[in-house]
Amino acid sequence: MSGAMVLHKKYFLSALPVFMFLLYGCSGIFPQHEPLEVKAARIHGEVLTVDTHVDTPMRLSRPQFNLGELHEPRKGDGKVDLPRMKEGGLDAVFFAVFVSQRARTPEGNNKAKERAFRTFDAIQEAIKAHSSMAELALVPDDAYRIEKAGKRAIYIGMENGYPIGSDLSLIKRYYDLGARYITLCHTRNNDICDSSTDKPEHHGLSEFGEQVVAEMNLLGMIIDVSHISDDSFYDVLKVSKAPVIASHSCARALCDHPRNLDDEMLRKLVENGGVIQMCILSAYVKTPVPNSERDAAMKALREKYGNLSELSEEDERKAREERRAFDEKYPRRLATVSDAVDHIDHIVRIVGIDHVGIGTDFDGGGGLDGCYDVSEIGNITRELVRRGYTEKQIRKIWGENFMRVFREVMKVAHKVQSVP
Ligand SMILES: [Zn+2]
Repeated sequence: MSGAMVLHKKYFLSALPVFMFLLYGCSGIFPQHEPLEVKAARIHGEVLTVDTHVDTPMRLSRPQFNLGELHEPRKGDGKVDLPRMKEGGLDAVFFAVFVSQRARTPEGNNKAKERAFRTFDAIQEAIKAHSSMAELALVPDDAYRIEKAGKRAIYIGMENGYPIGSDLSLIKRYYDLGARYITLCHTRNNDICDSSTDKPEHHGLSEFGEQVVAEMNLLGMIIDVSHISDDSFYDVLKVSKAPVIASHSCARALCDHPRNLDDEMLRKLVENGGVIQMCILSAYVKTPVPNSERDAAMKALREKYGNLSELSEEDERKAREERRAFDEKYPRRLATVSDAVDHIDHIVRIVGIDHVGIGTDFDGGGGLDGCYDVSEIGNITRELVRRGYTEKQIRKIWGENFMRVFREVMKVAHKVQSVP
């Protein structure tokens, strides 16, 4: 043993009590002594939290809905508003401009376009009316800046490429109105690609769909592969020059639903540099126990009212009342926060920590036992901390992974634009 080593050891032993005092005195240095609740709340408050998909804008055009007021979600009042975003510690959110799939005719396309424009207007107006609480966000840095100002950052995504119709120039119009991603289709096929919940028609991405992808790459708009069929997914990855996202999807290995991504798709997504944003819609998290009576009654209710966004205000109110009565008659056991975090665990096990995030689908069916509305999202962080995820890992899950993809998509656009 050299003299220097002895000296080091002696020095270390005499300094040890001072070190221990400092470590115990500062919980930040000795985080393992921080109680779970305290640690989870601290991390949840410190990291930027981004939810990449909510359908709240469907409510914005209703005069009785005020984004700046606190609502009661269990009375069907909606799961997201600015006061509850603050309460739940959600810093940034993507509001979906959703248009449900109807006739693929010039008239149908035109109606879809008009509906999309109205929804963009409603979002802009709601933000303007509550400018002390929220701000429109357009680039990744906006979320960090707006969070520092103590406000909520509202991004816009478009769910369903149907409002593009057959006019590629509309993509730039939607981009200029603030849309930063487009979910290529919804529950039915459109002119862009096949849906995961419809019969194969194009067997993936159509020729027009390829042009849509190229135009989005050029503009720096994120391509969202949630809802699209497996063939469409693989086609998109073949032609996209930029990484993609699945804005609200889970792992099929844990819940066998066509809306979810299987392990092979997860691996492909990683090759592409993309990210899957775990959804908390109960039926995508855990396969519901079959109940034929309930399923038949639900089918009848769906047939009676169709899509809520297409109804008059009065009919929508009636539909919601009947839905509430239905839920009371056939109470459903929702999947739990623990069930949802199992999906994060699985994705991390298959492809690592850098390719997973969170997109709740609140107001589009999202909500769990323990995370029913936006005020309860801290319970996801609590479960992650309980399972041993570090602050750095949680920061990635809650926003950094998604923001990396967002930045990369913008970089690719610059490259594509600079090619003569
Ligand atoms: Zn959706």
